[in-house]
Amino acid sequence: MSETPPKDIAALDPAGLTEAVSALGMPAYRGKQLLAWLYDKVVSGFDAMTDLPAAFRDSIAETYSLQLPELVETQRSSDGTRKYLWRFADSVMVESVGIPVGDRLTVCFSTQAGCAMGCRFCATGEGGFVRDLLPGEMTWQVALVARDFGMRASNAVAMGQGEPMRNYDATLGALRLMNAKEGLGIGARHLTVSTCGVIPGIERLAREPEQFTLAVSLHSAVQKTRDRIMPSVKKWPLETLQSALIDYTQRTGRRPTLEFALIAGENDSPAEVSALVAFARGWMCHVNLIPVNPVTGANADRPSDARIAEIANSLSAAGVETTVRSERGTDIDAACGQLTQRHRPKGA
Ligand code: SAH
Ligand code: SF4
Repeated sequence: MSETPPKDIAALDPAGLTEAVSALGMPAYRGKQLLAWLYDKVVSGFDAMTDLPAAFRDSIAETYSLQLPELVETQRSSDGTRKYLWRFADSVMVESVGIPVGDRLTVCFSTQAGCAMGCRFCATGEGGFVRDLLPGEMTWQVALVARDFGMRASNAVAMGQGEPMRNYDATLGALRLMNAKEGLGIGARHLTVSTCGVIPGIERLAREPEQFTLAVSLHSAVQKTRDRIMPSVKKWPLETLQSALIDYTQRTGRRPTLEFALIAGENDSPAEVSALVAFARGWMCHVNLIPVNPVTGANADRPSDARIAEIANSLSAAGVETTVRSERGTDIDAACGQLTQRHRPKGA
């Protein structure tokens, strides 16, 4: 008898779980129970799923593997932010961050191990691409961070490692597991996808039935600067990006966020600010200014607090809705990819 290797249960989104249970001869509601055991209760084996018939548990265990990520390291900031490094069964590692604000908890999760986009200021980009994550591998990050805080996650953002639009189906699958009431029960508007500007992904997201939130890493509205700091998105010029975003707002009625990491001497000049005003004015968007987190190997310093405030004021005065991201976790390896960067062997 030839043995087929078990399939990874983490590869399935809610529809996939329903199909999997019906293929095993079970009614659809068993799929919802399975989803709850995997992502709400987060059990480490099928035999712990005590309200499922034993024969059904045996047949799922024959077909699928279930391997939770292992916690490698946690860092706790004095401001309450916690950062986690996880290792999957194949030794691949990714990071997540938990950010508590009052009774709310936002979890920032990774969608890929590493990233192929190579943005100049980003620790993840510097390390290159390792592999795509599965929907369940993303959802477990959020579920396990929430469990560590003893809270439910009110928000989840795909702003950890990886470019979600380069792993679109799995990311959407994860958002659906997080959104499912049997899963994490997080409202679609509280689930955010952040992209460096992969237009086909923005176009697809605009057509999804759920009200997921979109953030776009802009970082410069001057083509030459953007090409230099974000070389992989050169093929989608700013004009095309702006039209795709305007189309997104018209289809969805939702306001995307433009993320702008301020780097001294790179994108903080008056000309950069005017270009940003021209890009963002007159349509429904919101600019979030982020003082850049210095990353080993990347020559990126943040402007002074006074310059950041000045930029925020000029944008607001020009009618562009603007906020400055409040700093969290600066005493831990807060920038995306930094914890993995420390764990990576030299030269790898
Ligand atoms: N790949 C996606 C999502 C992950 S990166 C994207 O690029 O949008 C999440 C956010 O962190 C992006 O806005 C990214 O530009 C930003 N980021 C990366 N490195 C940073 C750093 N050193 N300082 C501040 N923000 C950084
Ligand atoms: Fe990838 Fe985003 Fe980092 Fe760019 S900023 S390298 S797209 S993770």
